[in-house]
Amino acid sequence: MTNIEYLAPAPETALVIGAGLGGLASAMRLGAKGYQVTVLDRLDRAGGRGSSISDGGHRFDLGPTIVTVPQLFEELWAACGRDFHQDVDLKSLDSFYEIRWPDGTRFEARGDTDAMVEQVRGISPGDVDGYRTFLRESEDRYAFGFEQLGRTPMHRLVDLIKVLPKFVKLRADRSVYAHVKRRVRDPRLRMALSFHPLFIGGDPTRVTSIYTLVNHLEKSFGVHYAMGGVQAMADAMVKVIRSQGGMVRQGAEVDEILIEGGRAKGVRLTGGEVLPAAVTVSNADPGHTYAHLMRNHHKRRWTPAKLNSRRWSMGLFVWYFGTKGTAGQWSDVGHHTILNGPRFQALLKDVFRKGHLADDMSLYLHRPSVTDPSVAPKGDDTFYALSPVPHLGHANAVDWQERTQSYRALVAAELEKVIPGFQDRLGPERIFTPETFRDRYLSPHGSGFSIEPRILQSAYFRPHNISEEAEGLYLVGAGTHPGAGLPGVISSAEVLGKLVPQAPSVPQRMAAE
Ligand SMILES: Cc1cc2nc3c(=O)[nH]c(=O)nc-3n(C[C@H](O)[C@H](O)[C@H](O)COP(=O)(O)OP(=O)(O)OC[C@H]3O[C@@H](n4cnc5c(N)ncnc54)[C@H](O)[C@@H]3O)c2cc1C
Repeated sequence: MTNIEYLAPAPETALVIGAGLGGLASAMRLGAKGYQVTVLDRLDRAGGRGSSISDGGHRFDLGPTIVTVPQLFEELWAACGRDFHQDVDLKSLDSFYEIRWPDGTRFEARGDTDAMVEQVRGISPGDVDGYRTFLRESEDRYAFGFEQLGRTPMHRLVDLIKVLPKFVKLRADRSVYAHVKRRVRDPRLRMALSFHPLFIGGDPTRVTSIYTLVNHLEKSFGVHYAMGGVQAMADAMVKVIRSQGGMVRQGAEVDEILIEGGRAKGVRLTGGEVLPAAVTVSNADPGHTYAHLMRNHHKRRWTPAKLNSRRWSMGLFVWYFGTKGTAGQWSDVGHHTILNGPRFQALLKDVFRKGHLADDMSLYLHRPSVTDPSVAPKGDDTFYALSPVPHLGHANAVDWQERTQSYRALVAAELEKVIPGFQDRLGPERIFTPETFRDRYLSPHGSGFSIEPRILQSAYFRPHNISEEAEGLYLVGAGTHPGAGLPGVISSAEVLGKLVPQAPSVPQRMAAE
């Protein structure tokens, strides 16, 4: 073992563990501050959950598909002296997504308020006024929860105390679902206005109503798709990092964060290589960071018991598949479709609280080939179908070695109702279960989105961006403040930029921030 007393990192060196979108954005911020940055990731491509796998001419974008709040990316690029739109081709979608119910009802989410009101009227005329009130309230929650809270450091108790009155005023103690229930009566509308926390791993019946802000940000800033998938965004970030003089090393797994005298001094890779750094940033899950990468060090706050007591986001069953010669077929199936099963609240209870894998399901169906020709061979389609399932931390955890094929058959039966005959046209395919998330991303309990964003696991209560456990160590990404989702992890890098000082050798006037 290396004697780390001899590690004397140069003051301008920084390491980022993990090339997820949060890690890459952090590297860009540190590069803009004058640091010599090296990003290390165990996978073979950058992007983490936002990376892709290609097979037989089909590109499977593994995770994020919906890009919201594009100004966060524009500001990130601007901080590095670059123009985001020169590097990434972002296409805004007119129809955001379609929601379907078993009774045949459909609801098309769009930016145009009048069109949305008419759809609400079509489903439940008595809910129009409540819907308008809900929209106004979402805007208030956006201004507070996103602009004020999400982009600001929240590691000091005083930060929390300052915002408490607003939490109380906005009834942050109520869940998203409880809030929506007070505004609209129709069960389908209640689902359509409250399901969004699932996009960031939260149970809508438990996550604070502050998250109704998502309705506002979608309507105000649109729903977008990056041509080439989120992989193209990750690749563009790598180019910016390299243009700043930084390095991105794939296939490099960190085994331990090296700490001496309470200060992080770099990392050791699984192969034994030691990399010193003055600033160490972990984009790995905080559970992995504290339980594994800091396993040899005493923790004041994030002890194994504390980590175990956290509520983790749900797991995901994701079936990626291509279909041959189907372009133009199933013309009513667009880029994003949400297919509701017969149950909403009871299904959430199965997934989040009971840890029970039910036979019924609600699915998100992604069909990027209607927008992006680069995702499939000409004439073919590329899809993924995603079902929220329990994570692996429940006492009755699902054995996916045993259940994958039978669950795939259940998903296929649901999909046959929407894209009939697709199984006769199947091309290459892949299935990710919570076990894949555990093994590929080193995600505790194989959870899809790290620690669940409940009120007592948010802001100050989340693992801090400036580590409580070692000086010179910072945390970014889905499990830390402000949380999961692309806007969340990009904001965590913005917060990091506010916490890390300028690199010592760079005069203040040259700083990008
Ligand atoms: C299926 C799916 C769909 C989603 N859809 C959307 C969407 O439409 N819109 C949206 O905004 N968000 C979406 N999300 C959420 C969003 O993708 C994530 O919250 C976000 O990408 C997580 O980024 P991150 O920075 O936390 O890092 P991650 O993407 O989790 O990456 C962390 C990286 O760290 C690496 N790593 C971990 N440990 C080590 C180690 N010891 N050494 C080296 N490397 C290590 C991993 O290999 C990984 O590459 C989706 C997520 C999933 C899974």
